[in-house]
Amino acid sequence: MVGTAHMNYLTVLIELFDAAERVAEQLRLSGEAAQPLTRGSFGDLTYRIDKEVETAIIKVVKKHLPDSLIISEEAGLIGDINGSPLVRIDPVDGSTNASHSVPLYSSAVTIVDGYRFRDVAAAGVVDIVHGDRIISSERGKVTINGRPAHPSSAKSLDRAYVNLNIKAGDIGGTGEWLMSLLRKIRYPRFFGSAALETAYVAAGISNAYIQLAPNLRTFDCIGALHLVKEAGGWIECLNTNLDSVDLRKPERFAYVAACDAAMGKLIMSTKV
Ligand SMILES: [Mg+2]
Repeated sequence: MVGTAHMNYLTVLIELFDAAERVAEQLRLSGEAAQPLTRGSFGDLTYRIDKEVETAIIKVVKKHLPDSLIISEEAGLIGDINGSPLVRIDPVDGSTNASHSVPLYSSAVTIVDGYRFRDVAAAGVVDIVHGDRIISSERGKVTINGRPAHPSSAKSLDRAYVNLNIKAGDIGGTGEWLMSLLRKIRYPRFFGSAALETAYVAAGISNAYIQLAPNLRTFDCIGALHLVKEAGGWIECLNTNLDSVDLRKPERFAYVAACDAAMGKLIMSTKV
């Protein structure tokens, strides 16, 4: 039964990411992606690409999982609070990139049989410009574009390629730690799509992703963190116990996701 359900989730993910990529490409080529609309359910400015990709994804979810509880960034909650599975959607992670016509943003979808992190059954993060798909629908297995994905390794921070995310106003008390990291990491990178950059750790593309300020929402990161976990990577949530979070509720996260425990510990050792 479980195997069948997960197979179905993979089919659903592939179909909804196909739809997301089609809509995103049309809007990018027509130059309409960055047209501002209104504010989404969770307060961020909504661009046309956010809304149209979301509509395309939700249509596929409703078709295949009619009893689901959908919680999506722009539309908010759709369905019964006790619906199953829980489907968390960030239609476009990296909307600011999209609004500046920078071609790096992703869609992130997480399907949960329950409402805890351990209940995540399938998740995908897809670069909807270039088409790279990082997906897990079976325990302990992650794929990139259908091929098995594994975290990389780096022996030291002065050889490491690490993605970070920070914006003005969020640095708070983490400024000294951030400076300490920037002094030690050989290749710090700030791409502006937290879900994709976290999934890069699962896929062996980067050695780590660091989110010092607790401001990633559940739909931004939970699927990507599941990918890191299932790929055998290392996760340290800095502001809460990830396993105790109710994924139906608003929550914000700070975390380090690393290719292995050694890299994770190296990063944590820079804390000042
Ligand atoms: Mg978004």
